[in-house]
Amino acid sequence: NKQVILKHYVSGYPKESDMELKNSTIKLNIPEGSNVVILKNLYLSCDPYMRGRMKKTEGSYIDSFTPGSPITGFGVAKVLESGDSNFQKGDLVWGMTGWEEYSIVTPTDQNYLFKINDKDVPLSYYTGILGMPGMTAYVGFYEICSPKKGETVFVSAASGAVGQLVGQFAKMLDCYVVGSAGSKEKVDLLKNKFGFDEAFNYKEEQDLDAALKRYFPDGIDIYFENVGGKMLDAVLLNMKLHGRIAACGMISQYNLEQTEGVHNLFYLISKRIRMEGFVIFDYFHLYSKYLEMIIPKIKAGNVVYVEDVVEGLENAPTALVGLFSGRNIGKQVVMVSPE
Ligand code: NDP
Repeated sequence: NKQVILKHYVSGYPKESDMELKNSTIKLNIPEGSNVVILKNLYLSCDPYMRGRMKKTEGSYIDSFTPGSPITGFGVAKVLESGDSNFQKGDLVWGMTGWEEYSIVTPTDQNYLFKINDKDVPLSYYTGILGMPGMTAYVGFYEICSPKKGETVFVSAASGAVGQLVGQFAKMLDCYVVGSAGSKEKVDLLKNKFGFDEAFNYKEEQDLDAALKRYFPDGIDIYFENVGGKMLDAVLLNMKLHGRIAACGMISQYNLEQTEGVHNLFYLISKRIRMEGFVIFDYFHLYSKYLEMIIPKIKAGNVVYVEDVVEGLENAPTALVGLFSGRNIGKQVVMVSPE
């Protein structure tokens, strides 16, 4: 059983050498009376929150990884054997699994093992648009941002797993949507593939406040926050009265030993802004409602989704590390096995 092991806790930017590939043996049969499920992993999801699990944390919403053990994360898998009556041999599932060829999991609330019923879509979508990032875009936009038709919306890390969907959801409500991303290729995708009204490369802007004023001369109603730091500071200067900020992520801060200060928080008061953080793990009760909404739209071609799929478990560390330099274009997936 090939596995990706976290060697030690990480400080600063994660590197490929913080992980290693190992072989172990695994018994693919279920002990009498056990409720475990044996999975063959097909697709693994690389997600920014995994960086938080690479350090020793206390009081977080999710446990740290264990050095010396395989990394865990969301993935799509096939059930080989099941001691749990909710799952049968041959079922396709998505949920928490290991970064390895085969995993033995105990389905619990924390493992979020969902049976995949709709197989007319690419299976890898269950790591993205039909999985955790899709739910994040849906909950963050519709539940947290209280959007109204025609409002002005700004999305950072806009071409990523979550951002590309937020932009498309906002366009469905006839909002004016602008996204920021870190390369020309990503900016082109935002405008030409996902239907953003405008997009800019934040790395080429000397003055983020001026950039936002260029695209939002009358201000921003909704900011979908994925990056934090200097971008958040500039956005606060440009929010409209009674604006809303969904604090989804702050990836620019994840690898810093000391996080940057945010200087313009007073605008939350003077502009009566509501800024609300959320963790998607609290919202999985909305999953079936989300699927009912999104699957017909995917099939009708009304929503598109860009993935960046690398092949082979051995390439998983490079893929994960790449999230923090913006190497990924769209949702970063690792294909362990096509079936
Ligand atoms: P992405 O697919 O967007 O990948 C991460 C992207 O972040 C990179 O491609 C890069 O794009 C951008 N990035 C990396 N470093 C920086 C930086 N220093 N400054 C600005 N941008 C940077 O990831 P996701 O869509 O999966 O996640 C987006 C955000 O949502 C993250 O902050 C994540 O933690 C958060 N999240 C929160 C959840 C919740 O429950 N609250 C659930 C899921 C995700 P670029 O080239 O544009 O710089």
